[in-house]
Amino acid sequence: MRTRIGSAVLAMLLPGAAVALAEPPARWWMDEPVRLVQTNVRETDSALDARRLVEQVAEFPANTLLFNMGGIVAQYPTRVPFHYPSPHLPPGRDLFGEVLREAHARGLRVIGRFDLSKTQKAVFDAHPEWFFERASGEPAVYNGLYSACINGGYYREHALRILAEALERYPVDGLFFNMFGNPSSDYSGRAMGPCHCDACRSRFEARYGRPLPESDRDTEYRAFLADSAREVAAAIGELIHRLRPGAAFLTYLDEHTDVIMHESNTSVTRPLPLWPYSASDNVNRSRSSRPDKMVLNLCMSFVDYPWRFVTVPPAEVRLRLHQSLAHGGPPALAMVGTMDQEDRSALYAARPVFQWHARHEDLYVGQRSAARVLLLPGERDAYRGFFRLLSEQHVPFAVADTVTDRPWDLVIAPSGAPARLERFVRDGGRLLIAGAVEPPFPVRPVVARCPHTQGSWRIHDHALFPSLVSTKLLFLDGEYLELPPLEKPLLTLVPPAMFGPPEKVWTDKVETETPGLAFADLGRGRVAWIPWDIGGLYYRHSSPGHGGLIADVVDHLLSAGRQLKTNAHPLVEITVMRQPERNRTLVHLVNASGHSDTAYFDPIEMRDISIDLAGDFARARALVLGETLAVARTGERGRFALPRLGAYEVVVLEPR
Ligand SMILES: [Zn+2]
Repeated sequence: MRTRIGSAVLAMLLPGAAVALAEPPARWWMDEPVRLVQTNVRETDSALDARRLVEQVAEFPANTLLFNMGGIVAQYPTRVPFHYPSPHLPPGRDLFGEVLREAHARGLRVIGRFDLSKTQKAVFDAHPEWFFERASGEPAVYNGLYSACINGGYYREHALRILAEALERYPVDGLFFNMFGNPSSDYSGRAMGPCHCDACRSRFEARYGRPLPESDRDTEYRAFLADSAREVAAAIGELIHRLRPGAAFLTYLDEHTDVIMHESNTSVTRPLPLWPYSASDNVNRSRSSRPDKMVLNLCMSFVDYPWRFVTVPPAEVRLRLHQSLAHGGPPALAMVGTMDQEDRSALYAARPVFQWHARHEDLYVGQRSAARVLLLPGERDAYRGFFRLLSEQHVPFAVADTVTDRPWDLVIAPSGAPARLERFVRDGGRLLIAGAVEPPFPVRPVVARCPHTQGSWRIHDHALFPSLVSTKLLFLDGEYLELPPLEKPLLTLVPPAMFGPPEKVWTDKVETETPGLAFADLGRGRVAWIPWDIGGLYYRHSSPGHGGLIADVVDHLLSAGRQLKTNAHPLVEITVMRQPERNRTLVHLVNASGHSDTAYFDPIEMRDISIDLAGDFARARALVLGETLAVARTGERGRFALPRLGAYEVVVLEPR
């Protein structure tokens, strides 16, 4: 294990280094390369051979193991009341302790997994007030396990005793929590509804002055549950950091954690289309929103809960892992059971990516997005439409929940703009707002909100829209906000007209002056507003008209031009990352051309990709290809060409 010199040791070695004592503990998850495997073992696996498992993980090669510790089932002889060792743990055995010892002896980090969301009936019988209560008054029971409530004493007090024992006994490198908080449905998809336990009733009523709602989709109830989870997370984070300084707190929350967890997963009941950018989305968004934290996007091997041992396509596994690397996250593969899988497809698919990472660890530490366009979150379809289009257009972008201090060339709000953007624009920022939502600052007055309309937009100014040269029309299928006519129309509404039979089509058509796009200067900045859901339309239908309009408006707002120009195929995702400590830039290329409909195949090899990038670099080396690439410089930009691209490439750019 890469151990850092402890600050106490440092103080002894370096004269006058007493200040070092006050330094926070090293954060291995930020400062070391991480390759994580999660073997999510069952209670029946408690007698497994710890040495063999750790050997398999190390030889994979992973350097971090996420392994079951406690909660529903403890894999060590716990002595805390209401916490139960696995019934399959042989007397005298301590599986977690053995795995930890074997792993540390081989230099592997170990993260202990807890699940505090459910426990046994004996606990419920002794403390029913700790548990989730359905509207009917019944507990929520699943396969004999009782759901604890995030606001009950099990989560809020007793869990801290369980965790204190674990942390005091075992030098873990971190603790991960599955299913943190009250889920909205159980594993079989049965809705849970709001919890009606006394703690939830009284806390909710005290906060909102009304009884619990009937639906757990109620906005205030969701905020209430999120805050409840954050409160418990604060207590658990404090305990971990106090008892094991240097250990990480990992769960699916942004706050109080050291590592934000995500999953790329599938479900047979999830509506199509698939979201092939899931790992990019998860890692980009959390790393850009919280650059002080690491993000672990678990690549879930299995197809869906009923098929825990059947894996998704190998090319999907590799695509997820490459996307994670390209956005500054570690490769992370999760499986149920041990590494002795019956379906070994996911293991075989992931292994070359782990081997690559092990050979090039320096690439994947300390990466930060160097993108100069910021995409804000929004309605799912609108957000994904912009996300996909920016990726297809090779506009490097970061996704962050708020506008941070980075010098953004452009901010994009896909479905309405938050009020805080006004300051950004007035200070000289460029902003693109889409969606039928009036901005909370003056852009253009709104005449009317118009309901779902199946009309068209007429293009007037092709000089502004070079991508739309072959069309005069775009389609509208949705709401729009009516704005006053512009002096120089760019895009105007053609309202619905007759569309059948063909003899009658558009014979009653009229034209209007209602704008489909408006620009406005605000302070020292400039805003473009598309007052209809162009992002959602692009997500659902991929019309080149919608895509071209967005691209042209983006180019109009990027007054200094694009950060990156390329001839790459739209399905090649390109990210630009900085490693400030090494003073170099990494350009990652992820080839997603094997994705089609519900299928993932190996990507098609691409050739002769030219890249023209803003930045001060004079040397370029493509590491997968193993070739130095000639760099031609013009002003503040450099150009190079990649002769071939397989599934993934990373080009390292350095100053002379
Ligand atoms: Zn409750």
